[in-house]
Amino acid sequence: MPGSSVFLMSLWMAYSASLPAASESELSPDIHTRELRAHVYRLASPEFLGRRGPGAARTSRHLAEAFKRLELKPAFGESYYQSIPSLLTEGTSKASVIGRNVGAILPGSDPKLKDEWILLSAHFDHLGKRGEVLYPGADDNATGVAMLLEVAEYFALSKEKPRRTIAFISFDQEEAGLRGSMYFAAHPPLSFRNLKAFLTADMLGRSMANVMDEYVFLMGSERSTHLRRLVEKTAVPRGLKIGRLGADLVGTRSDYGPFRDRKIPFLFFSTGQHPDYHSPSDVPERIDYQKLQRICVYIRDVVKRLANDDAVPSWNEKPLPPDLDEIRTVAVLVNRVLKRPDLYPLPEKKRDMVRSVQQRLSKILENGKVAVEDRSWLMWNARLLLITVF
Ligand SMILES: [Zn+2]
Repeated sequence: MPGSSVFLMSLWMAYSASLPAASESELSPDIHTRELRAHVYRLASPEFLGRRGPGAARTSRHLAEAFKRLELKPAFGESYYQSIPSLLTEGTSKASVIGRNVGAILPGSDPKLKDEWILLSAHFDHLGKRGEVLYPGADDNATGVAMLLEVAEYFALSKEKPRRTIAFISFDQEEAGLRGSMYFAAHPPLSFRNLKAFLTADMLGRSMANVMDEYVFLMGSERSTHLRRLVEKTAVPRGLKIGRLGADLVGTRSDYGPFRDRKIPFLFFSTGQHPDYHSPSDVPERIDYQKLQRICVYIRDVVKRLANDDAVPSWNEKPLPPDLDEIRTVAVLVNRVLKRPDLYPLPEKKRDMVRSVQQRLSKILENGKVAVEDRSWLMWNARLLLITVF
């Protein structure tokens, strides 16, 4: 407790009262908003210095302790950590370490399936501090890590054990060009041949452009017929909508890159870009914890199926043919942005650009099918919108 004067004491009491009531050490298989809130507040607090450099090291220690408390096995032999060497010194005798991934494993319970594994991940690193200014990264990606911890807790504590092995990995150095996941994919702790699906989440608690409140985007299912069917069969919690998109619409935006390149069926979850992205105002007060909770339940149920179903996904050499669902998702976004300039103000030039995208999308929807040239138009324009508008 700081200071001794009555004034400081009352300040401290007011401050403590404003802290979330639950502590993140409370253990139960249920996924509650108050637990998620506690994780996000803690990870985004000044204690972790924006989760870069010494702050990242401290965060990885915090996560390893959380996995240990759940009695999950270390993912890397005896250790919860995987050191990431710098590109320049990798393979030399004096390799310098730039960070470390942290992770745990829950071994499968079925003797026939336990060598196969499912990987659930979320990067923990963020931008650190610039001068005295803290970049808390509450959405990016304390929300993803909160999901990872709560889903890990569910599987660790629930009586029903998954048939396949599940690895829970939090990557470091994502913000530095996916160095953590690239290193992991090149040096996996379990056989890559037996990795049946890769799931990652990056930013789960906001609303794309402030207009997609009920949506989470789901990318990657176009690369596996089985995975597409599986996500469509999984019940979506009330109040949540899944906006399915091809991952190519956003380019390589998170840790799925190195796994997609190795043809591992993958899913990428994100609630998308918002005005506080990569800014000091990405704070825990702005997270929608109820939405985060619903997304966690959905991801947990997808992982459960992947770990227990008899069949596993396989990689499609060609992506599934484009469909109207994806067009509809993008159309909802541009329609709402144009309709609600109060929520997402745009300069006239950018509005014009969004308007022309809107026109073409409604034409495609009128035609009732997506032609090959429509799809390539969509890919380039979605990327352009992401770079220049959102
Ligand atoms: Zn991120």
